Amino acid sequence: MFTSLNRFFPRMKLRRNVKLTTKTDIFCHLVLVIVLPIVLLYDFIVVIPQYHSPGGYVYAVTVICIILLYVNAMTNLMACMIVDTSVDHERIKDFGAEDDEYTNWQHCEICDALAPPRSFHCSQCRTCILTRDHHCFFTGCCIGHQNFRYFTCLVVYSALLSSILMFYNLKHFCLLMSPLFSAVFLSALTLNQILHNTVLSLNLIYIIFSVGMIFVHAPLVLRGELSWERDLKDKHNYDAGIYYNLRSIFGQHMHIAWLFPLFASQLPGDGYNWKLITKDKSTETMATLRSRQA
Ligand SMILES: [Zn+2]
Ligand SMILES: [Zn+2]
Repeated sequence: MFTSLNRFFPRMKLRRNVKLTTKTDIFCHLVLVIVLPIVLLYDFIVVIPQYHSPGGYVYAVTVICIILLYVNAMTNLMACMIVDTSVDHERIKDFGAEDDEYTNWQHCEICDALAPPRSFHCSQCRTCILTRDHHCFFTGCCIGHQNFRYFTCLVVYSALLSSILMFYNLKHFCLLMSPLFSAVFLSALTLNQILHNTVLSLNLIYIIFSVGMIFVHAPLVLRGELSWERDLKDKHNYDAGIYYNLRSIFGQHMHIAWLFPLFASQLPGDGYNWKLITKDKSTETMATLRSRQA
């Protein structure tokens, strides 16, 4: 289905069928792809013209910035969904799993197959996920080795977009609601105020999720850690330094990869080979880990 897109996703397997499997996934995904454009249209037509004259330079720049952020967020959302993050159990057979260096590998009881370190079985996706971080309800798929870059960009662009929208929506809220505080509460609400309060509430949910995700994930990403590894008592160390940790997510062209999801940037590791992991930060280990990523 997505074979023509292969050049944008080097050495990545693309999903043949993208479908949302659970009711929560469907609900969250639809909220994002249907409600967000409605909020944008409302802001373009009702809110922003109150502060910048439509057809003027500032209005045009503001709208273009918002559209660019929206397109980028949605393209990253789609990239997240079409990249296949599952473990290729057939490929594992070529790795020679009997080797001593593969002692960190595990056996997935559900798939009844060998799974690489840091992979985890997802009950919603019904498969083992390579370097699994978590199952994302908005994308309806797991975030893992191949699509972490797109997820990170989705979150960051969503946070920027929701912040700009919140700036205008809050400003408009103050304008609309100021007479209310000198009048009778609630009974004074007009249709415009109710509509705007609804949009503001949706905007608030969007900003809480996106900015909250940044606070949760940014320290983990910089430490080279996955969400579920944070609470492990006896954990291995995958921290190769901030630059290399970011490179393992954004790929070899990380300096431009964050700009747009279709800028191809091959990942340095394959997500299977974690045999150089150790529990300490010895110079030798760090050097080897970095050379593997080079
Ligand atoms: Zn499994
Ligand atoms: Zn999943």
